[in-house]
Amino acid sequence: MKNPKKSLSRFKRGVIQFSFLFLMALAAWKGLHRLPSVAPDVYPYLSTMSTELVEQCILENGKSPTISWEDLLAIRSSLSERDARPLIEQLRNHVPFSDLNWVSLPPSLLKTVRRHREILNHYTFYHPNTYRFPVSGTTWFENSFGADREGGLRKHEGTDLFGKEGTPIVSICGGKIEQLGWNRLGGERVGVRGDDGNYYYYAHLQFISPSLVKGNRIEAGDFVGSMGNTGDAITTPDHLHFGIELPNGQWINPYPFLKVWQYWSNL
Ligand SMILES: [Zn+2]
Repeated sequence: MKNPKKSLSRFKRGVIQFSFLFLMALAAWKGLHRLPSVAPDVYPYLSTMSTELVEQCILENGKSPTISWEDLLAIRSSLSERDARPLIEQLRNHVPFSDLNWVSLPPSLLKTVRRHREILNHYTFYHPNTYRFPVSGTTWFENSFGADREGGLRKHEGTDLFGKEGTPIVSICGGKIEQLGWNRLGGERVGVRGDDGNYYYYAHLQFISPSLVKGNRIEAGDFVGSMGNTGDAITTPDHLHFGIELPNGQWINPYPFLKVWQYWSNL
Protein backbone atom coordinates (compact mmCIF):
# COMPACT_ATOMS: atom_id res chain seq x y z
CA MET A 1 0.00 0.00 0.00
CA LYS A 2 1.22 3.53 -0.84
CA ASN A 3 2.18 5.81 2.00
CA PRO A 4 0.14 9.02 1.42
CA LYS A 5 2.70 11.09 3.36
CA LYS A 6 5.53 9.86 1.11
CA SER A 7 3.70 10.56 -2.16
CA LEU A 8 2.76 14.03 -0.87
CA SER A 9 6.39 14.86 -0.15
CA ARG A 10 7.38 13.47 -3.56
CA PHE A 11 4.75 15.75 -5.08
CA LYS A 12 6.13 18.75 -3.18
CA ARG A 13 9.65 17.92 -4.30
CA GLY A 14 8.41 17.71 -7.88
CA VAL A 15 6.76 21.13 -7.60
CA ILE A 16 9.94 22.64 -6.16
CA GLN A 17 12.08 21.04 -8.89
CA PHE A 18 9.72 22.23 -11.61
CA SER A 19 9.59 25.78 -10.20
CA PHE A 20 13.38 25.85 -9.98
CA LEU A 21 13.79 24.72 -13.60
CA PHE A 22 11.11 27.16 -14.74
CA LEU A 23 12.83 30.09 -12.99
CA MET A 24 16.21 29.08 -14.44
CA ALA A 25 14.73 28.94 -17.95
CA LEU A 26 13.02 32.30 -17.42
CA ALA A 27 16.28 33.91 -16.25
CA ALA A 28 18.14 32.48 -19.26
CA TRP A 29 15.43 33.72 -21.66
CA LYS A 30 15.48 37.17 -20.07
CA GLY A 31 19.27 37.26 -20.27
CA LEU A 32 19.15 36.48 -23.98
CA HIS A 33 16.41 39.01 -24.72
CA ARG A 34 17.63 41.83 -22.51
CA LEU A 35 17.73 45.24 -24.15
CA PRO A 36 21.07 47.02 -23.99
CA SER A 37 21.53 48.91 -20.73
CA VAL A 38 22.51 52.55 -20.91
CA ALA A 39 24.90 54.31 -18.51
CA PRO A 40 23.08 57.14 -16.67
CA ASP A 41 25.33 59.89 -18.03
CA VAL A 42 24.76 59.16 -21.74
CA TYR A 43 21.43 60.83 -22.55
CA PRO A 44 21.67 63.76 -20.13
CA TYR A 45 24.76 64.68 -22.12
CA LEU A 46 23.44 63.89 -25.62
CA SER A 47 19.92 65.24 -25.33
CA THR A 48 20.87 68.57 -23.75
CA MET A 49 23.57 69.23 -26.31
CA SER A 50 23.39 72.57 -28.10
CA THR A 51 22.37 71.93 -31.71
CA GLU A 52 24.32 75.00 -32.82
CA LEU A 53 27.48 73.59 -31.27
CA VAL A 54 27.05 70.25 -33.06
CA GLU A 55 26.50 72.05 -36.36
CA GLN A 56 29.47 74.34 -35.76
CA CYS A 57 31.78 71.36 -35.16
CA ILE A 58 30.48 69.46 -38.19
CA LEU A 59 30.96 72.58 -40.32
CA GLU A 60 34.49 73.08 -39.02
CA ASN A 61 35.29 69.46 -39.84
CA GLY A 62 34.02 70.09 -43.38
CA LYS A 63 36.49 72.98 -43.73
CA SER A 64 39.46 71.15 -42.23
CA PRO A 65 38.74 67.41 -42.47
CA THR A 66 41.84 66.48 -40.49
CA ILE A 67 40.11 67.60 -37.29
CA SER A 68 37.35 65.16 -36.33
CA TRP A 69 34.08 66.83 -35.33
CA GLU A 70 33.69 64.38 -32.41
CA ASP A 71 37.03 65.56 -30.96
CA LEU A 72 35.95 69.17 -31.33
CA LEU A 73 32.49 68.56 -29.92
CA ALA A 74 33.76 66.57 -26.93
CA ILE A 75 36.15 69.41 -26.07
CA ARG A 76 33.84 72.35 -26.83
CA SER A 77 30.83 70.84 -25.05
CA SER A 78 32.83 70.12 -21.88
CA LEU A 79 35.22 73.06 -21.45
CA SER A 80 35.24 76.83 -21.36
CA GLU A 81 36.56 78.62 -24.44
CA ARG A 82 39.76 79.44 -22.53
CA ASP A 83 40.43 75.79 -21.65
CA ALA A 84 39.35 74.51 -25.06
CA ARG A 85 41.52 76.86 -27.16
CA PRO A 86 45.00 75.31 -26.59
CA LEU A 87 43.60 71.81 -27.20
CA ILE A 88 41.87 72.76 -30.45
CA GLU A 89 45.08 74.49 -31.53
CA GLN A 90 46.89 71.15 -31.11
CA LEU A 91 44.20 69.32 -33.09
CA ARG A 92 44.72 71.88 -35.87
CA ASN A 93 48.41 71.00 -35.79
CA HIS A 94 47.53 67.33 -36.41
CA VAL A 95 48.08 66.09 -32.86
CA PRO A 96 45.73 63.09 -32.40
CA PHE A 97 43.16 63.30 -29.59
CA SER A 98 44.90 60.50 -27.66
CA ASP A 99 48.25 62.38 -27.73
CA LEU A 100 46.98 65.83 -26.74
CA ASN A 101 48.95 67.72 -24.15
CA TRP A 102 46.23 68.58 -21.65
CA VAL A 103 48.42 71.29 -20.11
CA SER A 104 47.00 72.40 -16.80
CA LEU A 105 43.53 70.92 -17.14
CA PRO A 106 42.28 69.53 -13.78
CA PRO A 107 41.99 65.69 -13.85
CA SER A 108 38.21 65.79 -13.30
CA LEU A 109 37.71 67.93 -16.43
CA LEU A 110 40.05 65.74 -18.41
CA LYS A 111 37.98 62.74 -17.36
CA THR A 112 34.78 64.51 -18.47
CA VAL A 113 36.15 65.34 -21.93
CA ARG A 114 37.35 61.77 -22.44
CA ARG A 115 34.03 60.34 -21.31
CA HIS A 116 32.12 62.66 -23.66
CA ARG A 117 34.40 61.65 -26.52
CA GLU A 118 33.64 58.00 -25.72
CA ILE A 119 29.87 58.66 -25.69
CA LEU A 120 30.01 60.47 -29.05
CA ASN A 121 31.93 57.57 -30.50
CA HIS A 122 29.52 54.93 -29.26
CA TYR A 123 26.14 56.67 -29.70
CA THR A 124 25.95 57.72 -33.31
CA PHE A 125 22.96 60.12 -33.24
CA TYR A 126 25.09 63.03 -34.38
CA HIS A 127 27.14 61.09 -36.90
CA PRO A 128 26.60 62.34 -40.44
CA ASN A 129 23.87 60.48 -42.31
CA THR A 130 23.51 57.64 -39.80
CA TYR A 131 20.01 58.54 -38.60
CA ARG A 132 17.45 60.05 -41.00
CA PHE A 133 15.18 63.03 -40.48
CA PRO A 134 11.64 61.56 -40.23
CA VAL A 135 9.74 64.13 -42.33
CA SER A 136 10.33 64.03 -46.05
CA GLY A 137 9.01 67.49 -46.97
CA THR A 138 8.45 70.96 -45.54
CA THR A 139 8.04 70.95 -41.76
CA TRP A 140 8.42 73.18 -38.72
CA PHE A 141 8.83 72.22 -35.09
CA GLU A 142 9.67 73.59 -31.66
CA ASN A 143 11.21 72.28 -28.49
CA SER A 144 7.99 71.33 -26.66
CA PHE A 145 9.21 68.31 -24.69
CA GLY A 146 7.83 68.35 -21.15
CA ALA A 147 5.04 70.86 -21.93
CA ASP A 148 1.69 70.30 -20.15
CA ARG A 149 -0.96 68.20 -21.89
CA GLU A 150 -4.62 67.64 -20.91
CA GLY A 151 -4.41 70.59 -18.50
CA GLY A 152 -1.25 69.35 -16.80
CA LEU A 153 -2.45 65.75 -16.34
CA ARG A 154 0.52 64.53 -18.35
CA LYS A 155 3.63 65.93 -20.01
CA HIS A 156 4.42 66.05 -23.71
CA GLU A 157 6.86 63.20 -24.27
CA GLY A 158 8.12 64.00 -27.73
CA THR A 159 8.40 66.56 -30.51
CA ASP A 160 5.56 67.66 -32.81
CA LEU A 161 6.64 68.24 -36.40
CA PHE A 162 3.98 70.18 -38.29
CA GLY A 163 3.39 70.08 -42.02
CA LYS A 164 0.89 69.42 -44.79
CA GLU A 165 -1.43 66.44 -44.51
CA GLY A 166 0.00 63.52 -46.47
CA THR A 167 3.67 64.55 -46.12
CA PRO A 168 5.72 61.31 -46.22
CA ILE A 169 7.17 60.07 -42.91
CA VAL A 170 10.22 57.80 -42.98
CA SER A 171 11.95 55.62 -40.41
CA ILE A 172 14.87 57.39 -38.75
CA CYS A 173 16.82 54.13 -38.34
CA GLY A 174 16.79 50.41 -38.93
CA GLY A 175 14.97 48.16 -36.49
CA LYS A 176 11.99 45.92 -35.86
CA ILE A 177 8.34 47.00 -36.10
CA GLU A 178 6.99 46.51 -32.59
CA GLN A 179 3.66 48.38 -32.67
CA LEU A 180 1.38 49.04 -35.60
CA GLY A 181 -2.11 50.44 -35.92
CA TRP A 182 -4.58 52.37 -33.80
CA ASN A 183 -4.39 53.57 -30.20
CA ARG A 184 -6.46 56.22 -28.42
CA LEU A 185 -3.84 58.98 -28.07
CA GLY A 186 -1.54 58.19 -30.97
CA GLY A 187 -4.25 57.40 -33.53
CA GLU A 188 -2.63 55.55 -36.42
CA ARG A 189 0.81 54.93 -35.00
CA VAL A 190 3.97 52.93 -35.64
CA GLY A 191 6.53 51.91 -33.00
CA VAL A 192 9.96 50.72 -34.06
CA ARG A 193 12.51 49.01 -31.79
CA GLY A 194 15.67 50.53 -33.26
CA ASP A 195 18.85 48.52 -33.69
CA ASP A 196 20.26 50.77 -30.94
CA GLY A 197 17.69 49.36 -28.46
CA ASN A 198 15.54 52.52 -28.24
CA TYR A 199 11.84 52.60 -29.08
CA TYR A 200 10.88 55.14 -31.76
CA TYR A 201 7.28 56.28 -31.89
CA TYR A 202 5.51 57.87 -34.91
CA ALA A 203 1.97 59.01 -34.12
CA HIS A 204 -1.14 60.74 -35.58
CA LEU A 205 -0.45 59.33 -39.06
CA GLN A 206 -3.07 59.80 -41.74
CA PHE A 207 -2.22 56.39 -43.21
CA ILE A 208 0.28 53.73 -42.23
CA SER A 209 2.30 52.24 -45.07
CA PRO A 210 0.48 49.00 -46.08
CA SER A 211 3.81 47.24 -46.57
CA LEU A 212 4.63 47.34 -42.83
CA VAL A 213 4.13 44.13 -40.86
CA LYS A 214 4.41 43.80 -37.08
CA GLY A 215 7.59 41.89 -36.22
CA ASN A 216 9.25 42.63 -39.56
CA ARG A 217 12.37 44.68 -40.10
CA ILE A 218 12.38 48.26 -41.27
CA GLU A 219 15.40 50.16 -42.59
CA ALA A 220 16.47 53.79 -42.19
CA GLY A 221 14.61 55.91 -44.73
CA ASP A 222 11.81 53.37 -45.32
CA PHE A 223 8.32 54.84 -45.75
CA VAL A 224 6.34 54.62 -42.48
CA GLY A 225 3.17 56.46 -43.44
CA SER A 226 1.80 59.93 -44.13
CA MET A 227 1.35 62.91 -41.82
CA GLY A 228 -2.11 63.40 -40.37
CA ASN A 229 -3.97 64.33 -37.19
CA THR A 230 -5.50 61.04 -36.00
CA GLY A 231 -5.98 60.09 -32.32
CA ASP A 232 -6.00 62.93 -29.78
CA ALA A 233 -4.56 65.26 -32.46
CA ILE A 234 -7.94 65.34 -34.23
CA THR A 235 -8.56 68.98 -33.18
CA THR A 236 -5.01 70.16 -33.96
CA PRO A 237 -3.18 70.95 -37.22
CA ASP A 238 -1.59 67.98 -39.00
CA HIS A 239 1.66 66.90 -37.41
CA LEU A 240 3.91 63.95 -36.67
CA HIS A 241 4.37 63.26 -32.98
CA PHE A 242 7.83 61.73 -32.71
CA GLY A 243 9.03 60.11 -29.48
CA ILE A 244 12.16 58.34 -28.25
CA GLU A 245 11.89 55.90 -25.35
CA LEU A 246 15.05 54.43 -23.85
CA PRO A 247 15.22 50.69 -23.06
CA ASN A 248 14.59 51.57 -19.38
CA GLY A 249 11.22 53.14 -20.26
CA GLN A 250 12.32 56.76 -19.99
CA TRP A 251 11.17 59.14 -22.74
CA ILE A 252 13.86 61.62 -23.77
CA ASN A 253 13.76 64.86 -25.71
CA PRO A 254 14.15 64.17 -29.45
CA TYR A 255 14.48 67.89 -30.33
CA PRO A 256 18.30 68.27 -30.47
CA PHE A 257 18.64 65.06 -32.50
CA LEU A 258 15.90 66.12 -34.92
CA LYS A 259 17.58 69.49 -35.46
CA VAL A 260 20.85 67.82 -36.41
CA TRP A 261 19.18 65.20 -38.63
CA GLN A 262 17.29 67.97 -40.39
CA TYR A 263 20.54 69.86 -40.85
CA TRP A 264 22.05 66.80 -42.55
CA SER A 265 19.01 66.18 -44.71
CA ASN A 266 19.22 69.77 -46.03
CA LEU A 267 22.88 69.62 -47.06
ZN1 LIG B 1 3.00 65.44 -29.62
